[in-house]
Amino acid sequence: SKNKAEFSLDSNKLEASSLLPKSPPRKRAAMVSLVRNSNLFGMRQTIQQIEDRFNKKYNYPYIFLNDVPFTEEFKQGVRDLTSSEVSFGILDKEAWGYPPHVDQKKAAEVRRTAKYMHAGNESYRFMCRFQSGFVYKHPLLKDLDYYWRIEPDVKYYCELDYDPFEFMAKNNKIYGWNMAPNEYMETIPTLWETTRKFMKEYSHHVNDKNILKWVTDKDGNYNGCHFWTNFEIVNLSFYRSAAYTDYFNYLDKAGGFFYERWGDAPVHTLAAAMFLSKDQIHHFRDIGYYHPAMGSCPAESDRKGKCVCDPKEHNEMKYRCREAWGYPPYVDQEKAAEVRRTA
Ligand code: GDP
Ligand code: MN
Repeated sequence: SKNKAEFSLDSNKLEASSLLPKSPPRKRAAMVSLVRNSNLFGMRQTIQQIEDRFNKKYNYPYIFLNDVPFTEEFKQGVRDLTSSEVSFGILDKEAWGYPPHVDQKKAAEVRRTAKYMHAGNESYRFMCRFQSGFVYKHPLLKDLDYYWRIEPDVKYYCELDYDPFEFMAKNNKIYGWNMAPNEYMETIPTLWETTRKFMKEYSHHVNDKNILKWVTDKDGNYNGCHFWTNFEIVNLSFYRSAAYTDYFNYLDKAGGFFYERWGDAPVHTLAAAMFLSKDQIHHFRDIGYYHPAMGSCPAESDRKGKCVCDPKEHNEMKYRCREAWGYPPYVDQEKAAEVRRTA
C-alpha cells in the first residue's frame, strides 16, 4: 500500500506539471467601458488607438456595459475593430438608479437649481454612482483581476511595448493613474466631511502609510486633487475589499451622488488615499493620453519617439496635484519666454 501511495503521489505530480503553462499565466484583465449606443464612433476611435498602440500584441478582451441594450449596429461596429473577445452587458436596476433611501424630490430640486457642469443631469449622477460602486460588481467582471477603464473619444498617443497589467502584478501596484487635475469643489460640498466621519467610524480601514496628505491642504480640508478616472488601471481586489465596500455604502447612504454631484474620480481617489500606500499607486506617466479638455504627453520618457503628441500642447503638468506627487515645479515655457521678451 505504501508503493501505491507513492505511485499516486507521483502521477499527481506528473499530471500537475504537464498542465503547467510554459510561461506564467497571464493576468485576467480586460478593457472595460460603460458607454452609450450613441458613442459608437467615439468608441471606435478609442479601440482603434488601443489596438494600434498596445492591444494588437496582447489581445486583452473588451467588456462594454450599458444601461439599455446595445444595438446590433454598436456591437458590430466595435467588433469590426478588434480581433479580441468582446462582450456586452446590461445593468440591473440596483446598479443604475436611485437607492431606496434617497429623496427623489430633493434630488430633482437640486438638479433644477444647482449651477455647476451637469447640474441638471440625472443620468450623469447614475453614471457617477455606477462607476463608484457597481462597475466592478457586474457579472461580466466577476473573474477579472484587473481592469483598464476606457472611454469613447480618448486618444492614446504612445506605443506601449510592455503589458501594464503584468507591470501592476509584478510590482504589487493596486491603482494606476495618468492625470490628476483639481475637482470643481461646488460639486462635492460635503464629500470630505462625510469621508472624515467615515474615517472616524471605520478607523481600522485607514492605512498606516496612507497618502491623505496628498489630498489635503494645510487646514486639513480636501484640496480637490483627484485621479482622472476616465483612465484607470486597477487591481479589482481594491474595489472588492471590505474597506472600499464600507466606504461606498457609507457615501451612498449619505446621498451625495444625488443631493450634490459626487464624481467617481474624487471617490476613487479618496479611497486610494485612505486605504493604499504610495508605493501601491502607480503613475503611468509614459502613457500619452488625451480625454476631451486635457492631455498628457510624455516629454522625458524613453517612449518619446513613439508618441504622436506635442508635449508643449499637453501641459497637464501645470496642475499642482502632480507637483505635490513629487515632480519638479511646472515652468510655463511660453510665459517665461514672454517675460524675457518684454521685461
Ligand atoms: P465626463 O468624462 O465626465 O465628461 O463624462 P462622460 O459623458 O464621458 O461619461 C463617462 C462615461 O460614462 C463615458 O464612457 C460615457 O459613454 C458613459 N456614460 C455617461 N452617461 C451614460 C449613460 O447615460 N448611459 C451609458 N450607457 N453610458 C453613459
Ligand atoms: Mn468622458
